[in-house]
Amino acid sequence: MKSRTKVVVIGGGIAGCSTLYHLTQEGWTDVVLVERDELTSGTTWHSAAQVTNFGANQTMVGLKTHSINLYKRLSEDPEYPINYHHADGGIRLANTEAQMQGYRHFSSMARGMDVDLEVIDAEECARRHPLISTENLLGGLWDPLDGDIDPAQLCQALAFHARKAGAEVYRNTPVTALTQHKDDTWTVHTKHGDIDCDIVVNACG
Ligand SMILES: Cc1cc2nc3c(=O)[nH]c(=O)nc-3n(C[C@H](O)[C@H](O)[C@H](O)COP(=O)(O)OP(=O)(O)OC[C@H]3O[C@@H](n4cnc5c(N)ncnc54)[C@H](O)[C@@H]3O)c2cc1C
Repeated sequence: MKSRTKVVVIGGGIAGCSTLYHLTQEGWTDVVLVERDELTSGTTWHSAAQVTNFGANQTMVGLKTHSINLYKRLSEDPEYPINYHHADGGIRLANTEAQMQGYRHFSSMARGMDVDLEVIDAEECARRHPLISTENLLGGLWDPLDGDIDPAQLCQALAFHARKAGAEVYRNTPVTALTQHKDDTWTVHTKHGDIDCDIVVNACG
């Protein structure tokens, strides 16, 4: 295990693995992730794992578009393929006029970011998903890129590509304490020894 690195990411769920991956893609390769158990042994492995473009503001829509594009690329990587049901399509339902107005607002906001969310009426909801009852239904918001992914495989793939770029991952290594020094650097204390670093990312869920 390294005793000195630039960044220590604590926690090997989606937040930690994605942070580690993105740091390496930005050229920060002197980085490590420490996980107390196995990767994706926290909440991530049993998440619903819906992957949608829907977001309440443009920042969220942008982040989700980034995720969709990244997950598609990762799922198609022959070196480490993962299960991703991409663009099956999904509907958010509305049974009040206020919800319908919200969907019109979200779809026009998303259009400004080249994201295509479509407001549809109740009959069209039922046509696209035959199990939907139209009773009390006003309509819905159709997201053509909606899909789902295996979240555990996704974490492993992000860690795989981060490792390939130079990052190190220490499993079965609980963090027991943090010490911040006067020069703003840190010591991360783990069951298997200490790691000095400039930046700590707490992704413990
Ligand atoms: C593809 C995808 C789709 C999702 N879709 C949905 C959805 O449709 N609906 C929804 O509600 N949510 C969804 N989620 C979110 C999900 O339910 C969780 O909120 C999310 O996965 C939490 O991730 P996390 O990394 O913050 O936490 P966790 O997965 O819990 O990871 C934290 C990690 O930190 C480790 N840890 C804790 N303490 C220590 C320590 N002292 N030392 C070392 N390690 C430690 C834990 O062991 C754990 O592995 C989705 C997530 C993904 C990945």
